[in-house]
Amino acid sequence: MRTITIKPEALTHNLTQAKQRAPNAKVLAMVKANAYGHGVAMVLPALQQADGIGVATIDEALEARQLGWHKTIGLVEGAFSADEWQTAITHDISCVIHHAPQLDWALRLLPPTDSAAGVVWLKYNTGMNRLGFDDNAIVKAAQRLHDAGYQLILTTHFANADDRSHPLNAIQIQRFSDMLNHLQSHVSPDIQGSLCNSAGLVNFPEHHNDWVRPGIMLYGSSPIIDQSAEDLNLQPAMEFCAQIMAIQTVKAGEGIGYGSRWIAQQDTKTALVSIGYGDGYPRVISDDAYVCVIDTTNHSSHACPVRGRVAMDMIVIDLSAVPVDVALDSTVVLWGSSPTVDEVASHAGTIGYELLCRLSQRPTRKLG
Ligand SMILES: *Cc1c(COP(=O)(O)O)cnc(C)c1O
Repeated sequence: MRTITIKPEALTHNLTQAKQRAPNAKVLAMVKANAYGHGVAMVLPALQQADGIGVATIDEALEARQLGWHKTIGLVEGAFSADEWQTAITHDISCVIHHAPQLDWALRLLPPTDSAAGVVWLKYNTGMNRLGFDDNAIVKAAQRLHDAGYQLILTTHFANADDRSHPLNAIQIQRFSDMLNHLQSHVSPDIQGSLCNSAGLVNFPEHHNDWVRPGIMLYGSSPIIDQSAEDLNLQPAMEFCAQIMAIQTVKAGEGIGYGSRWIAQQDTKTALVSIGYGDGYPRVISDDAYVCVIDTTNHSSHACPVRGRVAMDMIVIDLSAVPVDVALDSTVVLWGSSPTVDEVASHAGTIGYELLCRLSQRPTRKLG
């Protein structure tokens, strides 16, 4: 048994938190990368109160339409070809435009009036230095798109919003609001703005503009470096579990698993757990990593360290500190409310986003 349980109530709770923090903005709930590994079909019903959803590829956008999402879909990297732009028009998808070829497609292939594809997210490079037009190009692009009948949302992306005191935040905010003012007075007063991902939404409440674009916070992982999800009143939307499949005692002086990386200092009671990097549990996990074993007789939960190398299909955990007799078949929580995905990520030298997105198809996904 290896299961990924998605909690619709937690998703709805987290969306409500985002809406309460940004009461005057519309919410584009980010569901790219299969809803950060949760499964788009699993999460959409719980995100009905969002004003729109954001995806990275046209296939993700089409999947959401097939699942019956009728509101806004924002394609955050825009079309990759004129064909994709045409597909976006056919399915009422609002695209980002971040470079000249996309601008050309948009000016050549006009959507019908009232199509959602007539709303474009014009990407401005304010300091992230990945996608977006620079100062000169963006003014010209905005003018040409406006003249062609498009409604515009000026958008940019923070490079360091997770770190509130990083100096680039203020610079990006200033450049963005200067440009938005300029376009509103020189091109059209109706141009809207969108600046904030989850971290920006939490850290910069004065800069929510018209649309906020929360992703990671909806899934109950913290977007902020020095605050936990719990601090932010976010609930984990995923519980990732496996099962104890064998229990044994390893003798003092013996090693465990590949490379015999961990050597028992004394006779040590261990359990084999049916999870590995083939499921998405990180192989690089450090010796501080732990999982929680659930004792079904009284529903108590016991933290157990992970010992030795994570293999493709199994890990070994140390039961020495567990006061009760653990049953074969016991459920083991790899991440959920404890440990949180953010804790596991910190023990794997990465961030919650990556662990969530790297989950494989092997675990069974269900709603809970
Ligand atoms: C992924 C993404 C977001 C969401 O970021 P989080 O850090 O997950 O909140 C927002 N905007 C854009 C353009 C993105 O690509």
